[in-house]
Parts: sequence; C-alpha cells; structure tokens
Amino acid sequence: MSFLEQGDSISWPSPTVTTGSERTLGKRGAKALRWTRQEALEEREPPGLGEGETKASSSSLSRPAAESTGLEATFLKTTALAQATSLPPAGPPPTGWDFLQPDCAISGVGSSTDDLELGIEFPAMAPWGYELEGLVEEKLALCPSPKAPLPKLGWDDELQKPGAQVYMHFMQEHTCYDAMATSSKLVIFDTTLEIKKAFFALVANGVRAAPLWDSKKQSFVGMLTITDFILVLHRYYRSPLVQIYEIEEHKIETWREIYLQGCFKPLVSISPNDSLFDAVYTLIKNRIHRLPILDPVSGTVLHILTHKRLLKFLHIFGALLPQPSFLSRTIQDLGIGTFRDLAVVLETAPVLTALDIFVDRRVSALPVVNESGQVVGLYSRFDVIHLAAQQTYNHLDMSVGEALRQRTLCLEGVLSCQPHESLGEVIDRIAQEQVHRLVLVDETQHLLGVVSLSDILQALVLSPAGIDALGA
Ligand code: ADP
Ligand code: ADP
Ligand code: AMP
Repeated sequence: MSFLEQGDSISWPSPTVTTGSERTLGKRGAKALRWTRQEALEEREPPGLGEGETKASSSSLSRPAAESTGLEATFLKTTALAQATSLPPAGPPPTGWDFLQPDCAISGVGSSTDDLELGIEFPAMAPWGYELEGLVEEKLALCPSPKAPLPKLGWDDELQKPGAQVYMHFMQEHTCYDAMATSSKLVIFDTTLEIKKAFFALVANGVRAAPLWDSKKQSFVGMLTITDFILVLHRYYRSPLVQIYEIEEHKIETWREIYLQGCFKPLVSISPNDSLFDAVYTLIKNRIHRLPILDPVSGTVLHILTHKRLLKFLHIFGALLPQPSFLSRTIQDLGIGTFRDLAVVLETAPVLTALDIFVDRRVSALPVVNESGQVVGLYSRFDVIHLAAQQTYNHLDMSVGEALRQRTLCLEGVLSCQPHESLGEVIDRIAQEQVHRLVLVDETQHLLGVVSLSDILQALVLSPAGIDALGA
C-alpha cells in the first residue's frame, strides 16, 4: 500500500442508529453486526460515483465509495480488548506487537493512522487578508482585490431548528470502539530511536504518525508526526550546503528534551469506551490530528483516530439518520470554514518559507497561489514527508511548485468548492476524496477560504452542543 493512500481498513462495526425519540431506549451494547470488508464493498456508491470522482450531485450525507484497501490485517478489535492485561514490569510497550527499537528493528502492527508550537515573527499580511510570503512589492500590485469574506449568516439560525442536533447525538451515542478499524497498521517508536530513522520509518511503513514508547517510564509519552519532522527541519536547517547534523544524530528523546524544554505535554489519548463526541472534542480542542485509543486496562494502543476517520464514520452512518435542513444550505449562507487571515504560499516561494508558515500559523495546509492570487495547488504538512522519502530535506530552497511536481503519487490540481455549493455537497466531496480540507474559491480560482474537517466536525458535532473548541 502506498504511503499516499489512506491507512484504514473500511471495516466498521455497524453502529446502532437511533433517532431522537429512540435515543432514550438505545443501548450501546446493542451493536449490530460488524460491517465486513465484503459488505463494505457491497455498500459502494452507484456507478459514476466511484473513487477519484468528484461527487457534487445531492446535498445529502450519502454513503461514499467504500475503501477496500486495508493495510495488513493483524488483529481483531475484539481480540485487542479481550486481551487486556496489566502492564508488564519492563520491556516493550504492551501492544502484543513488535515495535521500533533503537536499532531500528521496526515493525509493530495492529491499528492504523489514516490520519503544533514555535514562535517566530509573524509575516506581514497581504492587504486582502492572507499571507503572501516572498511576494515582492510590485507583484502585489498584480493581484486582484480580495472578495468580501463570507459572512456567517445562517448557522446560528440553523442550530435552532429541529433535527440540528442529530449528528451531535449520534456521536454521543457511539464510542471510539465503534469507529476503530478492524485491521490496520500501527508503528510504535522507542524514544531512544534516532530521529532520522524514525522519519524514514514513517515513510517506509506508510504511516503518518507513531506513538512514542518510553521504556524507562514504561508508558506512551507522545506522538511523532509529520509536524515534528517540520519542526526539526525548521529548527536545524541552515542551507543546502550544510548537512543537518542534528537530524542524523539526535534521538527522539533528545529532540523532545530540546524542543519541549522540560514542559512535556502528556500524550493525549482516549478510551475505546469514550464517545465519538469526546474524540471530536479532544482532537479539535488540543489542535492535534492523531488521537490514540488506549485500552484502559492494558495500556495497549488499539487504533489512532483522525478527523478523516470520524468524518467517514459520520458520512457512512449519517446517511441512515434524518437529514437536517442545514445540509442543503450553501457554504456561503452557513459560513463554515475560515475566510480571513488565510495562510497561503506562492508557488515560487521556497519550501523553507512554507515550513516557516506551518510552524508559525499551525495550519495543516497552504493553498498555493500564483502571482495573480489564483489558487494553483495545495501544499499540506503531509507533503513535507516527501522530503524524507526522497531524501531531499537538504534542499529547502526548492520552490513549492517544484516540490508539488516532485510528489511521486499525488492528487493533481486542487480539490475545491465554491460558495454556492451546499454543505452536503462539500461533505460528500471531502469524504469521497479523502482529504482533510477543500479550498474555497470563486469562479476565477481566486481564494476565498478553507473548509477543513475541523470546521465541519466542529459545526456538525460540537456547535449543536454549544461548544466552540475550534475558536477557544
Ligand atoms: P500532523 O497533522 O502532522 O499529523 P498533529 O497536528 O497531530 O500533526 O501534531 C501536532 C503536534 O502535536 C506534534 O508535535 C505532535 O507530536 C503532537 N501530537 C500529535 N498528537 C498528539 C497526541 N495524541 N498527544 C500528544 N501530542 C500529540
Ligand atoms: P492527512 O491525512 O495527513 O490529513 P492531507 O489530507 O492533508 O493528509 O493530505 C494528503 C494529500 O492530499 C497531500 O498530498 C495533500 O497535498 C493532498 N491534498 C489534501 N487536500 C487537498 C486539496 N484540497 N486539494 C488538493 N490536494 C489536496
Ligand atoms: P486543520 O488544522 O486543517 O484541522 O484546521 C484547523 C483550523 O484552521 C480550521 O478552522 C481551518 O479552517 C483553519 N485553516 C486550515 N488551513 C488554513 C489556512 N491555510 N489558513 C488559515 N486557516 C486555515
């Protein structure tokens, strides 16, 4: 399986779906049969809506084409829970799987990942509200004026309507266990592993993140993600001519000591028995994109939840729920997304500039614009790992446009939406394309905003409960 593919098996347990009135009677224990891979395949979308195609027809949360390419099948969810034992006195983490030792004896399987902080001076904002790093004065004049930011008109009204809480209730009634893949890959790193090996190992194993095991503490102490690779490059890169000594020599624990300077934030995790509502809240509130599900008894990492996984779950099973009226309202009306202070990068800017913006703004992706301000691509934090894959992390003077062209397997162009499209259409597309966000553009490809999974999950799940984890 390619690193660029998503790392989840599609098999879900079929959750119990209750309507508002049934909810009081609903029992968590009454889970329906596991949705097997074959059943998932049979649930595929009608012809014409297959993978890779943009679906913009209905405004409903409908069933997406099922993914059928799970990673190595290695354990069953039920086994993981049933195997709960107390932590061993010493040695490797309680996974039951091998893990990446300092000598790089990697493997470790079981669950999947399908799915920031540093202070440097904020770049100047362009007049229309987004950053144009590296754009010289005269080029600015070539750019058209921005469109007016989208107002948040209708969302508060929509939340008052009956049925607006349907997804909130659904996520409250289902547990993280329900959203776990039945089989997929998990890679764990010992904190004494060298960071260079760790990032290469992410690439080699086709995963986006790994829990960190501290054998002295006998516990998981954090995650290693692509953002950490960006932070390392951002801190230590000097020039194409100077080898990054630290990336070659430092261990993960050394990096964490230097970067975190003693303020070790604990691993943010969740229990399989916690609700999916809690998972959405925890991800958004902590501004992270990887949430390990830990078995409360054994401490085993069972799975790593992501926004994508949660949205996919809601997209598939939400089709069985009564549809709230807001799905047919337009993005323009609802104002779901970010429309001001957008962080962007010029296609001619060096990759180093993009890394600066990632660190500075803590955004997960940058719309790539040409000198006229039109969106010509998207550079996401995920794309930075290609520098490790291709061992080109010493060439951060390469342009963002060039870096995008060098991606071996990539989504061509930009996956976008327009203000007149309905929320339902946008959700269908984002789920279908399995990306973390759509770029909002006008008919001339000028940037209007970013609609991210964080925005959508906040709106569908948390806002109806009166919680603003994104803005907090
Ligand atoms: P990415 O989007 O690159 O996968 P994240 O946004 O999840 O990265 O991570 C941002 C920062 O938070 C990184 O330094 C990462 O190590 C850390 N982090 C990610 N997930 C967790 C977690 N569950 N607990 C603690 N720290 C985490
Ligand atoms: P992650 O699973 O880490 O959240 P992303 O969805 O950010 O990953 O990115 C996965 C790949 O999809 C990257 O190559 C990224 O450039 C691409 N991608 C993500 N969103 C878009 C988009 N809206 N348009 C084009 N490509 C995108
Ligand atoms: P994400 O990190 O993509 O999960 O999104 C977290 C928040 O940042 C959401 O409100 C997004 O709309 C917003 N966001 C994402 N990308 C950008 C960007 N390039 N510029 C400004 N905001 C962004």
